[in-house]
Amino acid sequence: MQHFINVILPIPLEKLFTYSISASEFEILQPGMRVAVPFGKSKIYTALVYEIHLTPPEVYEAKEIHRILDEYPLVNEIQLKHWRWIADYYMCTMGEVFRSAMPSAFLLESETLILRNERGVVHEDDLKDDEFLVYEALQHQSMLRVDEIRAIVDIKNVLPILNRLLQKQIIILKDEIYERYKPKLVRYVKLGPRYTSEEKLEELLQSLTRAPKQSQVVLSLFQLQATTKKPVKVSDLELISGSSKAVIKALIDKGVLEEYQIQTDRISYDGTGNTFDLKALNEFQQKALEDIYLGFGANKVTLLHGVTSSGKTEVYVKLIEECINRGKQALYLLPEIALTTQLISRLQDYFGEKVSVYHSKYSIHERVEVWNNVLAKKEKAKIVIGARSALFLPYSDLGLVIVDEEHEGSFKQFDPAPRYHARDAAIVLSTLHQSNIILGSATPSLESYYNAQNGKYGYAHINRRYGNVLMPEIELVDLKEQIRKRRMKGHFSERLLQEITETLNNGEQAILFQNRRGFAPILECTTCGHSPQCPNCDVSLTYHQFKKQLRCHYCGHHIALPERCEACGSPSLDTKGFGTEQVEEELKGLYPNAKIGRMDLDTTRGKYGYEKIITAFEQQELDILVGTQMLTKGLDFRNVNLVGIMNADSLLNFPDYRAHERSFQLLTQVAGRAGRTQKRGKVIIQSYNPYHQILKQVSTNDYEGMFKEQLYEREQFLYPPLNRIIKITFKHRNFNTLNDAAEWFSKSLRNVFKKGILGPEYPPVARIRNQYLKNVIIKIPLGQPLGKTKNSIKRIENSFNAISQFRSVRVIYNVDHI
Ligand code: ADP
Ligand code: ZN
Ligand code: ZN
Repeated sequence: MQHFINVILPIPLEKLFTYSISASEFEILQPGMRVAVPFGKSKIYTALVYEIHLTPPEVYEAKEIHRILDEYPLVNEIQLKHWRWIADYYMCTMGEVFRSAMPSAFLLESETLILRNERGVVHEDDLKDDEFLVYEALQHQSMLRVDEIRAIVDIKNVLPILNRLLQKQIIILKDEIYERYKPKLVRYVKLGPRYTSEEKLEELLQSLTRAPKQSQVVLSLFQLQATTKKPVKVSDLELISGSSKAVIKALIDKGVLEEYQIQTDRISYDGTGNTFDLKALNEFQQKALEDIYLGFGANKVTLLHGVTSSGKTEVYVKLIEECINRGKQALYLLPEIALTTQLISRLQDYFGEKVSVYHSKYSIHERVEVWNNVLAKKEKAKIVIGARSALFLPYSDLGLVIVDEEHEGSFKQFDPAPRYHARDAAIVLSTLHQSNIILGSATPSLESYYNAQNGKYGYAHINRRYGNVLMPEIELVDLKEQIRKRRMKGHFSERLLQEITETLNNGEQAILFQNRRGFAPILECTTCGHSPQCPNCDVSLTYHQFKKQLRCHYCGHHIALPERCEACGSPSLDTKGFGTEQVEEELKGLYPNAKIGRMDLDTTRGKYGYEKIITAFEQQELDILVGTQMLTKGLDFRNVNLVGIMNADSLLNFPDYRAHERSFQLLTQVAGRAGRTQKRGKVIIQSYNPYHQILKQVSTNDYEGMFKEQLYEREQFLYPPLNRIIKITFKHRNFNTLNDAAEWFSKSLRNVFKKGILGPEYPPVARIRNQYLKNVIIKIPLGQPLGKTKNSIKRIENSFNAISQFRSVRVIYNVDHI
């Protein structure tokens, strides 16, 4: 009898692929194990076994697998179900989920390298358009991975093109298969097995009398073993005995010493091993905890709505303790930017070694270690704290999922597929594990609060700060008026400056917030109004003072700061809009003695960039911290008494139906950084429009009011949570093709759905990296079955792809787009 496996390949294929296996392979293989398989003409991929069966594929001859890569499954059944849900719900392929779910070290694919064939003769006229793109990409870099080529030329299916180019002898392939993950190995030594008895040992020392150096090494080894009672590292032995590597090696070669290795974890808790007792909850936290258990008892997702600094984290800690006491695993999810050392060490204080961290800034090696620890259900991975990708670890027995800062938009993956929302995928994961799940926030998303209101979710509320600390006092400053009365210094109102001065005089700290989402600083000619544009994208270049450059934030294109206007030649160039850099610069002029730091994407690159700034601020090496949204989340600074918001308008005016909700959340969260101790904190919000409803709601802490008003608007304009939306983006380098394609697709959608189709429309930046973009939005009423709707869309896409002119247009789905 012949056996087959269906595998997931780490590429966007609509269907699983079938390979044949031998009888002996059948004995070994299980779903979740990896196999190396040939694919296409010359590719080798790491694929994941999904199912094992007896049915040969209908339209192709099943190839044999190359080899089995695992002894046991790396991925369990629950994960496969979870992946299936993600692929179906977010309209992507299992392969895309597979690729993003696993540390790339596990995808030991043939890293196919494409090279120019130096000896080939190229007639450029003989090349088709797409072939020419690839050929051209290889002119700039002599060697590229298939994926890089795919990204550069942005063609769905680059492999056939590469095949044609191969036939034409224009390119050559270089296949390499290698294991990228290398565990960190430490070398240890012990006495060789021949010398374990007293007599033999005596003999050995006798024989070494004429080799004093070697004898010294052996004696040092005894000494080390006696004092530390632990395995002896080669490096320690070298140090203590004062001898060279060569001497130790000679002893190993003779068999006097034996070398061995212990695999050590990179991410190990370096604390003392002592942990603290959990804090006793106050009455409000206790009440919330009881309400949470009520929700859990009813098998409901439960929302913890607690104002900033109300002690939510301490409540989570209680839940975690209870979960691990039941012997189960706990997952604590946070948006990437909120995942700070502050929080990690807080959890380690309570749970010591049981805490593992999983984070995109960690190396591949570190991630593989956490994966393996979770898979083996090790004690040290009982509690995993991580950003959205931590969802994909191989949990077998989850008892609790915490989604902290659940309102955060960055939980939604934007690019590439799967474009999943980690909060929603976490809810599905908890259902699969039958585990408890809690969503926490000071400013819940409309979706979650809506679900709590209508009883779908459990709900717990803490409406005061821990220790009776008052909510900060919020003052709105009218920029228009301040300008009219000439009370501005640069971007600072008189009120804000007064408060900063007072804060500094009191030896306290201040945070100044300037978001970059609205207007980034651009260079503008005051004579003719021209501002330099990116040649590849439809945006103005952004001014970076520090490097004296103009940069494109979409494609990275940059030029040196021009001295004259490139259009009219005038030297009168000025910056318009302002970013964190400019705020910092002005502050330095206004407060030459203050120590000022800046936290934004530019200053926090690198693994510990973010931590360094936070620590400096925490330890009061800085007086003022200027930053973007990065500094809104989960930070607990004791000495901050003032928060200034430089300009609230750019947030409020953002062209998006969520702009108001998001502004409320962001402003409330930033304000929440002020006055977390006994003294009441102060928040100054500068705005051209201080009577804006949202600003009023922020200043009076009126979440309810904001919710009601926004929900009403969403209802009127058919947006979530009362409708679902799917955004389809079309992408092509030819303007006309793109327009025709988007038009064709939306017309077909209108034929099927009659209403709820918006667009096609150009996004605010309608060309990126020389690709034109157009969006269509589909609004789906809650009653309409989602699965059927998606099938209809997919059917339209199939017909669309059958039209040769549209085949190279990329179609990107974003379900629940935010
Ligand atoms: P949130 O997560 O809601 O912003 P935190 O959990 O960070 O609030 O709590 C704010 C501050 O109050 C922290 O410094 C925390 O240590 C302290 N705190 C909270 N609950 C307790 C408690 N039950 N006992 C002692 N201190 C507490
Ligand atoms: Zn000009
Ligand atoms: Zn650009």
